[in-house]
Amino acid sequence: MNKLNFASIEVLIEKIQNKEISSRELVEHSAKRFQAHNSKLNASLEIFDTDSILKNVKDGGALHGIPGVLKDVICQNGRKLTCGSKVLEGLHSTYDATATSRLKLASAPIMGRANCDEFAMGSSTETSAFGPTFNPWDTSRVPGGSSGGSAAAVAAGLVPWALGSETGGSVRQPAAFCGIVGLKPTYGLVSRYGLVAFTSSFDQIGPLTRTVKGNAHILSAIAGNDPNDSTSLNVEPKDYTAQLNGSIKPGLRIGVIQNAMQADGVDPEIIAATEESIKQFEKLGAKIENVQLPAMEYGAAVYFILARAQAASNLARFDGVRYGLRAQTDTLQQMYEQTRDQGFGSNVKARILTGNYVLSSGFADKYYDNARRVRQMMRQEFVDTFKQFDLLLCPVTPEPAFKVGAYDNNKLAMDLQDYFTCASNITGTPAISVPCGMTSQGLPIGVQLLGPDLSEELLLQTAYAYEQATPWHTMHPKNF
Ligand code: GLN
Repeated sequence: MNKLNFASIEVLIEKIQNKEISSRELVEHSAKRFQAHNSKLNASLEIFDTDSILKNVKDGGALHGIPGVLKDVICQNGRKLTCGSKVLEGLHSTYDATATSRLKLASAPIMGRANCDEFAMGSSTETSAFGPTFNPWDTSRVPGGSSGGSAAAVAAGLVPWALGSETGGSVRQPAAFCGIVGLKPTYGLVSRYGLVAFTSSFDQIGPLTRTVKGNAHILSAIAGNDPNDSTSLNVEPKDYTAQLNGSIKPGLRIGVIQNAMQADGVDPEIIAATEESIKQFEKLGAKIENVQLPAMEYGAAVYFILARAQAASNLARFDGVRYGLRAQTDTLQQMYEQTRDQGFGSNVKARILTGNYVLSSGFADKYYDNARRVRQMMRQEFVDTFKQFDLLLCPVTPEPAFKVGAYDNNKLAMDLQDYFTCASNITGTPAISVPCGMTSQGLPIGVQLLGPDLSEELLLQTAYAYEQATPWHTMHPKNF
């Protein structure tokens, strides 16, 4: 097997620095990998031609010409932008997202656009208008979602990194399903400028990588204040790899979220792997205690309401006037209606309907306003809990990667995929998903560390020490 296939960013940086390989060779290698394997996965919607990819890549730069892909909800100047939807047919981005331009500044070649659930709404990448993405560990299964194309491409060794986006778990959950590392940064740490809005008050771009250090490299390139995003935090860019020394912070206190560990319906293999990971953290010197976090219990309900309400408002702009598809009709009213009817898939339509319902007069108090109040309560509980603990720990998902079509007749059950993840989005706090085991069927399992605002360095340091002490990041799917 070619050693480049599953090489991590840190290994590739060394190879580039030692002049063992050039960025053109890396880009060509990755393009060949997509050519050979993408038809089995449908991970990318488009791989650009090599010369146009390399046009922006200069010598030097923190990412040294190491290629990746961007979830197709992130603008790339002059490239198509679909959000996994037919409604944007024919649209090309007219500018770079801030994350995109910062990656280019860091000399990262961007190979293409990764498949995703339509407008990032989903947990399986089955709702893309361009067909589902498949999990490289077992192609009869989903890679998770909504950043499934990004996760599958990294896990299958087609690129060493990808950007995804999170609203309720869409980086961490596919990372767990695909056996890689996924980070959801603190709300406002990474600019949302040029990220197509789903739930503006939850959305964050996050890196998907094979290793924790790789993740820190990508975060270092994209994080930091951006005047183009009014919700961007006043944080200067920094080197998130600096703390990664293989040991954890002395006296680190980790709270294990008991209501998650004991929740109904969690696969016993997930619990067993999570418990093993806790022992490993203890060996590394962490002080482990149990904690109840009732706020997590309200997450799915609050998420259901707020995410749909904001999605309904954000997606109102796709009406045939400014972007993409325009239905040919006799009247303006028909044009709006038919563009939206033809352009949006059923999942997105259902969310828009529910979102407008919870915002409508007579119901907004009961649903939207109440959900906002519970959100504040959850935030307070998180802040209070982080006075006692440095980090919290629980599973990422209740089950490993499920079969394609498994939830076709039970969409509500699919929503429970976010049960352990969406509280971090609601409270704006960061969390990371790291591989922690394999099921008896050979499917990856992830463990989640949750931290207080702007604790990315601590999360990465802790995750790195864990990763270095365990074998999971060295395992890769066969046949790729
Ligand atoms: N699975 C969640 C949803 O369907 C989360 C999506 C996301 O994080 N973008 O909304």
